[in-house]
Amino acid sequence: MSLREQLCEYGRRAVELGLVIGTSGNLSVRDGDLVAVTPSGAALDRLTPDMCPIVDVAGHLVEGDLQPSSETPMHLAVYETTAAQAIVHTHSVFGTVVASTMTELPPVHYNALMLGGVVKVAPYATYGTPELAANVRAAMEGKQAVLMANHGGVTIGSTLEQAFEATRLLEWLCEVYVRGLGVGNPTILTDEQLAAVVERSLNPPVFPRRL
Ligand SMILES: [Zn+2]
Repeated sequence: MSLREQLCEYGRRAVELGLVIGTSGNLSVRDGDLVAVTPSGAALDRLTPDMCPIVDVAGHLVEGDLQPSSETPMHLAVYETTAAQAIVHTHSVFGTVVASTMTELPPVHYNALMLGGVVKVAPYATYGTPELAANVRAAMEGKQAVLMANHGGVTIGSTLEQAFEATRLLEWLCEVYVRGLGVGNPTILTDEQLAAVVERSLNPPVFPRRL
């Protein structure tokens, strides 16, 4: 599947799963110095490959009739300082709830390790601005996910599929935490407990074969 076809596929899935409504949210995928990105102002479930612009990492439009997403500067800033090959940004409900009420998403479940543990909330700045791009870039250091204050979430991956799954996981973690707060006082995993999970994953149990 071409990079632009991938944007159409995952754009459609993002809408189907309720991670995105209307024209909010944007996706990009990188190949060397080029980045295919979803266009500005288009519904993500109605994209065709030729609608998706291609920009270079310096932010010049290389191909396409439509303008790139207004959050393209944020995508490019993240590509500049991480090993990301794909980025997904949505205004998903529970991610936006956490981003509007807290300064970080604490690890209430060990799967948070897949996003780098604690997910930081990058300080608020107007969408599409270099200031927002800088805030996200700083909060993404050593992580796979960031929440943008009063805005939504951003995840990265080495493929678009991976970045998309990270967005689903981020939303699930935010939902668990928010619903947990509604029931009581969610227990936060300690650094020691998280370190033990890493240790466990590096040394999975081996079941001896029955002779
Ligand atoms: Zn946005």
